[in-house]
Amino acid sequence: MRYISTRGETAPLSFKDAVITGLAPDGGLLLPEQVPDVAAELAGWRGLSFQQLAVEVMSCFIGDVSREDLTRIVQISYGGFDAPEVTPVVGLGDLTLLELFHGPTLAFKDVALQFLGNLFEHILTERRERLNVIGATSGDTGSAAIAGVRGKDRIAIFVMYPQGRTSALQELQMITVVDDNVHSLAIDGSFDDCQGILKRIFGDLEFKQRFHLGAVNSVNWARVLAQIVYYIYSYLLVAEEDEALTFSVPTGNFGDIFAGFMAARMGLPVDRLILATNENDILTNFFNTGRYRRGQVQFTITPAMDIQVASNFERFLYYRLGEDGEAVKSFMQSFTDKGEASVEVDGPVCDLIEAISIDTDATLAEMREVYERHRYVLDPHTAVGVAAARRLPRQSRIICLATAHPAKFPESVERALGGVSATHPSLQGLDRAPTRREVLPADEEAVKRYVSEHAL
Ligand SMILES: *Cc1c(COP(=O)(O)O)cnc(C)c1O
Repeated sequence: MRYISTRGETAPLSFKDAVITGLAPDGGLLLPEQVPDVAAELAGWRGLSFQQLAVEVMSCFIGDVSREDLTRIVQISYGGFDAPEVTPVVGLGDLTLLELFHGPTLAFKDVALQFLGNLFEHILTERRERLNVIGATSGDTGSAAIAGVRGKDRIAIFVMYPQGRTSALQELQMITVVDDNVHSLAIDGSFDDCQGILKRIFGDLEFKQRFHLGAVNSVNWARVLAQIVYYIYSYLLVAEEDEALTFSVPTGNFGDIFAGFMAARMGLPVDRLILATNENDILTNFFNTGRYRRGQVQFTITPAMDIQVASNFERFLYYRLGEDGEAVKSFMQSFTDKGEASVEVDGPVCDLIEAISIDTDATLAEMREVYERHRYVLDPHTAVGVAAARRLPRQSRIICLATAHPAKFPESVERALGGVSATHPSLQGLDRAPTRREVLPADEEAVKRYVSEHAL
């Protein structure tokens, strides 16, 4: 299988090159040249473990990693999850929850980043190369990226975060990882300062090449690939033969729901995908009107969804615009220049995707409702998806993706459920664990100096 760019100006790449490259050189995102049809395989895949299924599904997209190597990479990636099913399903009245938070940092991003870290290490070992990952986080995603590469020989990671502006728990999840290859950089500034520094460092091509800098960002194809697996896995656990199911997906960067979109294109019987956003509703507006228009970021109790520009959206756009790279380019150009762009609509933007925005009050109310009825504590992100599922007319049974463990968001749990607390053993005692971090000024040169002294 080869990989092509959504903007059509990159020569096709092998899977391994697509993974190492991340973003296509023409500025587009990478997609498989054809989407494999697995409809005829589904019945035979019933009863496979998550890991076995992952090897089957991923093999459809990978031509240049042997089955033996892939099996090993999958085994080590999911060996540390604290549920034997890796992504178990739980009944919640007439809904089903797909728990994606059994990895090391208790968020769904672990499913992809554990795999990506091991895949990178495998490719770098083969090529005798090394990589220094550098990134910026407002608090939520840094720890999953760190957990994905900690202890690896050929990868080091530098994560900048705004000192004092993440939650205490978010900072602890990063700085209690004390492996030599992990560098948590507390920047004396805002998240915007961190992002600005990151941009300028990546803009210095000589520096970037000299220190083999790269990103483990949300657009890497391997992340989407790992996420396709749990749509198929949960479908096989829940559905009768040929039954079509709906998935409700709390959405920020459109990575998770795009994996569901791909699963549907592969022949999984998906009735609908519910795209659930918080007050940051650029995607909801797009799917309801065809107009993609940038707004101001609003800060909510679901920080992982406080996003205005969804980094994976371009992949969907490519299919929506008839796989026409030129059309994608002009849409994105218009969006960059004017802050908005549109697709022609004649009915729904996409028959498969129904979008709805859920505000903070409705999210908290859903957490309360589910707790009162089922004694189950939802994290606020998951609650956005569950609330969305309840509000839309129902044609089929629904699986709601549970994207984080509630213990990661104790303030919101307290606000919704007053007196009920959510805990998790891996977070207890974190405040007494050894820590390592480096405090640096919000200054590009200071960060570069640190990176140059500690890069692999
Ligand atoms: C990242 C994240 C999301 C959003 O996923 P996208 O792939 O960015 O749409 C939802 N919930 C949680 C807890 C997350 O960490």
